[in-house]
Amino acid sequence: MGKVKKQQQKVFDDCYAIYEKNGYEKVIWHVSIEQANNNPAYKDVNEERCEACDNTMPSLNHICLICGQETRMSKQQLVDAVIEDLKKGFAQGDYTVLDELLNKLQIKTLVQSLPEERWDEFKEINNSYFEIMHQDFYEDAGFEEIQIHCGEHGSVYLKQDGDKLGFIVDVYGENDLVDTMTVWEEDLNDGADDTDEPFDPNNFSMVEKEDFIDTWGQYTDEVCAELGYEEDSCDDLLEVDYFYYERSRKWIPKCSSMYSEREQAIADYLKLG
Ligand SMILES: [Zn+2]
Repeated sequence: MGKVKKQQQKVFDDCYAIYEKNGYEKVIWHVSIEQANNNPAYKDVNEERCEACDNTMPSLNHICLICGQETRMSKQQLVDAVIEDLKKGFAQGDYTVLDELLNKLQIKTLVQSLPEERWDEFKEINNSYFEIMHQDFYEDAGFEEIQIHCGEHGSVYLKQDGDKLGFIVDVYGENDLVDTMTVWEEDLNDGADDTDEPFDPNNFSMVEKEDFIDTWGQYTDEVCAELGYEEDSCDDLLEVDYFYYERSRKWIPKCSSMYSEREQAIADYLKLG
């Protein structure tokens, strides 16, 4: 085993021994002492998110020093890396990255980073309607969320749906949900290249298909009741004018004068199964 490997193994062994004897808080304490003493073996120990421990834990090479499972990098590590890089730039008198970063921040945040006695100087431009309160990924819930304060009473929450198939917009008044809307990724790319084939099946969104089936589809008992057929022997009769859409277990008219051109195209498409 190489020297570095050996040194790292000792960190794992020592921390595990401490954990077994005294629990994870003592390991965190041990790591902070070793780092304060500039122990080179602990130089690369970071705080990372460990799913198995369900907590932020000291880790080395993305391995949790408590349980030995893989960990994930945290935003703080990224922030620290950027700070280190900025310091190098400053040493050479280069402030361009900082300038770019600060320009991305909200005016309110910038003003508040100055001493309070200077806030008044900038009150003329410090009057935004929107204020981004946070943008975070919630490990436990498994989704990302942005909260935007709107005007005096409102708040908008933008939530990713968890599977990254789209996002949810929740609008709150002082206390209550005022409006909500779900936007699917696949609905965001329409209109771009559908001019040649307006009824290309790829242009029918899931939502549109579901709506169509909800509007026009009927279960066997419903359609039989309407037409006066026996449920046991209706298939042949129904198949003259309807097709059976297996996935929804519904009968859908093959053609209908009630259909719009687009609905007819959806019917033709669904008929293919
Ligand atoms: Zn762990």
